[in-house]
Amino acid sequence: MGAFSLELSDDQVQLRDWVHDFAADVVRPAAEEWDRREETPWPIIEEAARIGLYGWEFLAEGMWNDKTGLTLPVAIEELFWGDAGIGMAIMGSGLAAAGIAAAGTQEQIMEWVPQCYGTPGDLQMGAFCSSEADAGSDVSAMRTRAVYDEATDEWVLNGTKTWISNGGIADVHVVIAVVDPEFGSRGHASFVVPPNTPGFSQGQKFSKHGIRASHTAEVVLDDVRIPGSCLLGGKEKLDERLARVREGKPGNAQAAMQTFEATRPAVGAQAVGVARAAFEYARDYAKERVQFGKPIVQHQAIAFMLADMATEIDAARLLVWRAAWLAKQGGFVNAEGSMAKLKAGRVAVWATERAMQILGGAGYVTEHPVERWHRDSKIYDIFEGTEQIQQLVISRAVSGMRIE
Ligand SMILES: Cc1cc2nc3c(=O)[nH]c(=O)nc-3n(C[C@H](O)[C@H](O)[C@H](O)COP(=O)(O)OP(=O)(O)OC[C@H]3O[C@@H](n4cnc5c(N)ncnc54)[C@H](O)[C@@H]3O)c2cc1C
Repeated sequence: MGAFSLELSDDQVQLRDWVHDFAADVVRPAAEEWDRREETPWPIIEEAARIGLYGWEFLAEGMWNDKTGLTLPVAIEELFWGDAGIGMAIMGSGLAAAGIAAAGTQEQIMEWVPQCYGTPGDLQMGAFCSSEADAGSDVSAMRTRAVYDEATDEWVLNGTKTWISNGGIADVHVVIAVVDPEFGSRGHASFVVPPNTPGFSQGQKFSKHGIRASHTAEVVLDDVRIPGSCLLGGKEKLDERLARVREGKPGNAQAAMQTFEATRPAVGAQAVGVARAAFEYARDYAKERVQFGKPIVQHQAIAFMLADMATEIDAARLLVWRAAWLAKQGGFVNAEGSMAKLKAGRVAVWATERAMQILGGAGYVTEHPVERWHRDSKIYDIFEGTEQIQQLVISRAVSGMRIE
């Protein structure tokens, strides 16, 4: 195991500053507009692609070429400091890429991950489709079915997925489906649905409380036929896995869970970015705003709120970095990924609320970004495993007991 260090390399510092400049100069000035329009910020994604921030090479650099694990969280914190909605529009394809990387063969990774991004001037997107109306936290209740057609070597997919980031506007959809309903979540597999596949369509697009620049929609699969090669990991591996399950041997983690496990530190880093944005804004405001003859920061009640915010944000970041580092050293030992995501989500919600308090009326109106950051922050208690699901994972890990 490599040593854990808080010291960033020169390359990481350079990357952090580069992403920060993009977040400050391009993302933040556009944030209010795209939140209001509630549309995908294509021009900003295009700009990110042009500088190399949106693209599979960027992800590969962070996911595969970094031994410390810190490169991605550092970059993501800066981007989401700029804006979480636009950040999600830029980073959302990463969930599909992570799903492909978690379950796919080397060949499938090479084929499909680049197609989750496209190229500047010809942008593409990826989406990761697990959730269904009756299967959110309870992934085992999933009903989308995949049936193999031996005669044509095709899989036929039927079902409806919901709350899918980039759902329907993506080019590559990674879909989790049931191949053997007898075995609950151990009978699931991941598939790639290639661009323009007949029978695949977008259902309703959702209007949201926060991260409104990120597209969220249903996707409908109606007799979607995909080639056998679109089963991630391949048929042989699937048959072997199902045979093991049939014999009562322990199977691998659920396909969806493997992906969510891997992305938890990155999601935690997003939340830290939002929290830090709110902290810095509130701190600067408190130094300017005068009441009772002095800047409000000199009222201890305000100063102490800022002290607590700074402390909690650092605590959340440290948990995120630990989880990201552990993930690189062979995996989490005691649910550290869930701890990081749980803490960071809570800190983001709490710190953005405190920032509103520090701004008073200015915190509540849309002239200042703080109310938007508070709206954005709440998603971190909900998606990629709710607060309670993280608690479930952590409590099982620390107790060794089955906790429902
Ligand atoms: C903006 C947005 C983007 C999303 N993007 C994606 C995406 O790209 N791909 C995708 O697949 N999904 C996506 N999701 C779905 C998201 O992952 C789910 O909303 C989440 O997993 C929770 O599921 P649910 O909404 O059905 O809530 P439910 O599972 O119905 O939970 C409701 C409440 O019950 C609690 N609860 C549930 N089970 C337990 C239990 N065992 N013990 C204690 N409490 C429990 C939950 O914590 C929560 O408080 C997205 C959601 C949103 C809002």
